[in-house]
Amino acid sequence: MQKPLLRIPYTGPLPPPTIIPRNANTLIGAIAALSNFLTAPPSPSLRDSAGDPHSTVVLSGAGISVASGLADYRGTNGTYRQNKSYRPIYYHEFLANHEARKRYWARSFLGWPTLHKAKPNQTHFAIKSLGELGLVRSVVTQNVDSFHSIAHPEIPTLELHGYLRALRCVTCHNDLPRESFQDALARLNPAWAAFLAEAIEAGALDTENPDERRAKGMKMNPDGDVDLPDAPYTTFRYPACPHCLANPPIAADGTRTKVEVDHEGAWKPTSTAGVLKPAVVMFGESIASSVKEAAEQAIDGSGRLLVLGTSLATYSAWRLAKRAHERGMPIAILNLGGARGEEAFFSNLPIGQKGESGVRVDMGTDKVLPELLDHLRRIGYAQTHSGNVSRAIDEEHKNSRMFKDMLS
Ligand SMILES: [Zn+2]
Repeated sequence: MQKPLLRIPYTGPLPPPTIIPRNANTLIGAIAALSNFLTAPPSPSLRDSAGDPHSTVVLSGAGISVASGLADYRGTNGTYRQNKSYRPIYYHEFLANHEARKRYWARSFLGWPTLHKAKPNQTHFAIKSLGELGLVRSVVTQNVDSFHSIAHPEIPTLELHGYLRALRCVTCHNDLPRESFQDALARLNPAWAAFLAEAIEAGALDTENPDERRAKGMKMNPDGDVDLPDAPYTTFRYPACPHCLANPPIAADGTRTKVEVDHEGAWKPTSTAGVLKPAVVMFGESIASSVKEAAEQAIDGSGRLLVLGTSLATYSAWRLAKRAHERGMPIAILNLGGARGEEAFFSNLPIGQKGESGVRVDMGTDKVLPELLDHLRRIGYAQTHSGNVSRAIDEEHKNSRMFKDMLS
């Protein structure tokens, strides 16, 4: 039997990257290298020619959503940096513990308006354009903000760690929209709803930094949590799954489950079913085998891998990069800061390669990708047919020396 693939956070320090090729340490050099990477003919190192070897699969992470105002876990403005005591909830705690769920939903209740008003940024739209040019074939993301599917619904996107836009019942597995759940939380927790309205007004939710939040009048515990004097976590209430409430399912042992709510519809701990969780893969939770296989197929169906805004710190993402490397796919990593085990992906690169076999850029995606698009358009890049290399690319590679001179 295969081992389940768990989502585990990784917070260890990562060494700074070695820039590849060497001139990719400037914006112009980085754009030239990434342009070569994306438009090169299929790599001779590819082990097989499955799928579309001309195309690129994107693997993205939290770094690309920073420009949308969502904190990265690790980056300069990351959650681990800003709030040292931050610790994500683990799946087993969430399932086992009513108190842990109250705390989770209270935090989530306060965090939702920030996520809900956030929008995809230029990185997501640059990926859309790369798709229109026929360069990017699919996306695998670790992000749970759904920005990829909002920005480029036409590019198949696999959400490796699920999504926050919905809730899923742990008993009947039905999905419910997060938005109406927020309304239900507000109704069940009026003191919290009033506090949230005030915090939004004061701008206290625009930062994850506990000190800045306190400065804006948001009272918080040393661990960065809010605990209202009149409404501590212990009194926070959350609704039950409406499907299980209406029709309690039969448990594995053949008995009927019990779903009990208080007079306003809040889930009661005497229940044996009907707990709702976010439709994300929580830390310590395993990724569904169908999702794991779809991610592997996305890698195997492309000729190269473009890693955007992730340190590959989670094993589920890192192993996809490893798989791409083992298939002989050229890899480009565009991420601010080091990436886990990255030297292995760039070992044995041909001497003098200009990006077609591997790229490592230590810059933000929102700085580089829009410029890269401008560059690709300027050189007249356009896809003629799916899977065919257009003449513009051949010209670029034929004239690569002249092209380099124009840039320098
Ligand atoms: Zn249910």
